[in-house]
Amino acid sequence: MKKQRKNKINRARNLAMFLVFGGMLVMYGGLLLKKFEIIMVILMLLGFVMVLASTALYFLIGLTSTKAAVVTCPNCGKETKVLGRVDLCMHCDEPLTMDPELAGKEFDEKYNKHNKRAPR
Ligand SMILES: [Zn+2]
Repeated sequence: MKKQRKNKINRARNLAMFLVFGGMLVMYGGLLLKKFEIIMVILMLLGFVMVLASTALYFLIGLTSTKAAVVTCPNCGKETKVLGRVDLCMHCDEPLTMDPELAGKEFDEKYNKHNKRAPR
């Protein structure tokens, strides 16, 4: 299976989208099952929480986007946002780094974890 490599902001956006549609679907399921009152209430609450979570996520994306570094991707020449030490280009998924020490190294999510040094 192909490893999913996506720009963090894009990934968060996808998750937020999934939560909105998932939440609506769950609430719709609750409506269909209104004969079973308890199930309906649970599904409605769950759907509501999912939609709320997506709203919070969209808000967070908005906040982190302002903190992300805007760089021009050397691969496709478009502007992209880099979050953390390493991230992927939003347009072409080219690995980008803010840390000169990591430049040229294989992209690895773990470089984002606290103070992990690149293998030498
Ligand atoms: Zn690019």
